[in-house]
Amino acid sequence: MFIPKRILFEKNALNYEVGKNIYKNFIKEKDIEIIELSGNKIRENIPGDNLYDQYRAGKKTLVVGVKKGMNFASCKPSAHYQLPLMSGCIGQCQYCYLNTNMGDKSYMRINVNVDEILYQAQAYIRQRLPEETIFEGSATSDPIPVVPYSNALHYTIEYFSTSEKGRFRFVTKFTDVDTLLDINHNNHTEIRFTLNTDKVIQDYERGTPSLDKRIDACRKVLEAGYPTGFIIAPVFLYEDWKKDYHNLLIKLRDSLPEKIQHPLTFEIISHRYTTRAKNIINEVFPDHQLPMKDEDRNYKYGQFGYGKFVYPKNSLEEIAGFFQEEINTRFINSEIKYII
Ligand code: SF4
Repeated sequence: MFIPKRILFEKNALNYEVGKNIYKNFIKEKDIEIIELSGNKIRENIPGDNLYDQYRAGKKTLVVGVKKGMNFASCKPSAHYQLPLMSGCIGQCQYCYLNTNMGDKSYMRINVNVDEILYQAQAYIRQRLPEETIFEGSATSDPIPVVPYSNALHYTIEYFSTSEKGRFRFVTKFTDVDTLLDINHNNHTEIRFTLNTDKVIQDYERGTPSLDKRIDACRKVLEAGYPTGFIIAPVFLYEDWKKDYHNLLIKLRDSLPEKIQHPLTFEIISHRYTTRAKNIINEVFPDHQLPMKDEDRNYKYGQFGYGKFVYPKNSLEEIAGFFQEEINTRFINSEIKYII
């Protein structure tokens, strides 16, 4: 659970139930600075004159705000739309895509006007009828660490449980799932977990739970009947990568409940980076050990018009062959969505 060092309440945020829940939960905590803003000036209230300091102070900050514009971004290929309940994450994964997109806004933000956001979701659902519409809750955040005191995910899961054509999904590395287990989700919310080897977690995923704890949380949501999937990402190639990813999959298989209601899904994503991301990572984590030598990679243009440094073609083929074999032989009722 995220215990922030400071909480900024934007104007009007305390008029909403989620805002009130958070306020009540923390108002008596002496070590937490509570700041009620008369406007929406976030940056001025988070210390730090440079990206390095802003990043670290932001990671200890929770912003409780009201979502204004109600145009949802598209979210291909994972879903039709992003559901803008939250942004930011308390983890400090050095390779994180949020470093590039939100480098100086590393704080966790919750939008408290959940009813209005879900009302807008319903409008998008109507537009696509009779097709289903899928909303992604983690496109710009990891929503789980604020679950125990915000209730925002509860509302959302309950809302989609009664939606005929709306579906919800999110992905997490965190483990505060206990309060989600008793919700009547009606199989309309899919929870995915991002997993990696112990070495990758220790070397690059600061501030996130261990593999064992993530697998324990997976087991709980499976026992609660949620459709569940795994993102193994980013896959790094290092000396013992095959042995370590093999052990990860064995441990996962041996820890899961015997009865699983839905096919498990797997998404495998090899490590990649842009030049912009690399420059920001070098600034925010000057001592990082991420393997980012451009000369070891191939440059590939992506669907969004900019290029990324990916592993060479033969390495990508080796990754694909390895995970296909490992997953198909160990997880009978499963589907590999993609390996990239
Ligand atoms: Fe980024 Fe995910 Fe790590 Fe959070 S847990 S810092 S969203 S990679």
